[in-house]
Amino acid sequence: MKKIMVIGAGQMGSGIAQVCAAHGYEVILHDLKVEFVERGIAGIKKRLHRQVEKGRLSEPEVQVILGRIEVSDQLSYAENADIVIEAAIENMETKKNLFGQLDELAPPRTIFATNTSSLPITEIAAETARPDKVIGMHFMNPVPVMKLVEIIRGLATSDEVFKTVNKLAESLGKTTVEVNDFPGFVSNRILMPMINEAIYSVYEGVATPSDVDKVMTLGMNHPMGPLTLADFIGLDTCLSIMETLHAGFGDDKYRPCPLLRKYVTAGWLGKKTGRGFYHYDK
Ligand code: NAD
Repeated sequence: MKKIMVIGAGQMGSGIAQVCAAHGYEVILHDLKVEFVERGIAGIKKRLHRQVEKGRLSEPEVQVILGRIEVSDQLSYAENADIVIEAAIENMETKKNLFGQLDELAPPRTIFATNTSSLPITEIAAETARPDKVIGMHFMNPVPVMKLVEIIRGLATSDEVFKTVNKLAESLGKTTVEVNDFPGFVSNRILMPMINEAIYSVYEGVATPSDVDKVMTLGMNHPMGPLTLADFIGLDTCLSIMETLHAGFGDDKYRPCPLLRKYVTAGWLGKKTGRGFYHYDK
């Protein structure tokens, strides 16, 4: 495992690319346009320079890490990749489309991992002629900080691919858990209904966003309130995950709060757009 192609240079993809490059892997960072990749790399530079200020990295080390990242706006770069880690938007059609094309472009040995938060791995794998080589690799946000990676086996994922991907995650300094392919896996099956319930508390006028968050930080010792966390994750991603849970389990206890839907329709997607349950400098 030498060359890793990361698809999507947003908050997750750029974080994954950073961690892979920092651990010595050659990285191809891909997005729809070069400018989107450059925006992702600008974020990586900012985070690495913060490490320099804290004395954890030297400037030459930063240059070495950045030198390992190649820019791509063509999926054909996959022809050189040992593994593709996909972190494009949380949309089944987008992911199916991407893996369908990648299946034609990447050599048969290339492993396909998706960082999806909740979409079925088995359904994505069925879009390819290599379902044994398709797996979920669910990093947590922010990737350089959070220790956990959920590794999700699709129905056909081979033991060999599972072991290889598990080893890769560990080589990135992460701790892994093995999860089977069910909606939301473990992390979002537990986290998202809590966030959705916090949004219902605001929607029904029980308390303001900051008071809901205070209850969970000061009262439950959570490091971050659920609405702050929702803004960090992205409200569009939260809505997609709730919709996946709702459709996947067919249980109304997972229905997305109408206020969440309203914010997403308004383009209030949280920190990344400057407004969600709180206001942010863009
Ligand atoms: P984001 O909106 O920050 O970034 C998504 C990126 O994908 C954008 O740069 C966009 O231009 C790009 N993109 C869209 N369509 C594409 C295509 N067809 N080809 C290539 N690039 C494309 O989103 P994000 O928060 O980084 O989430 C990415 C994935 O990671 C989603 O599947 C999400 O569910 C998952 N995830 C998110 C979090 C989180 O906290 N945000 C945590 C774990 C997993």
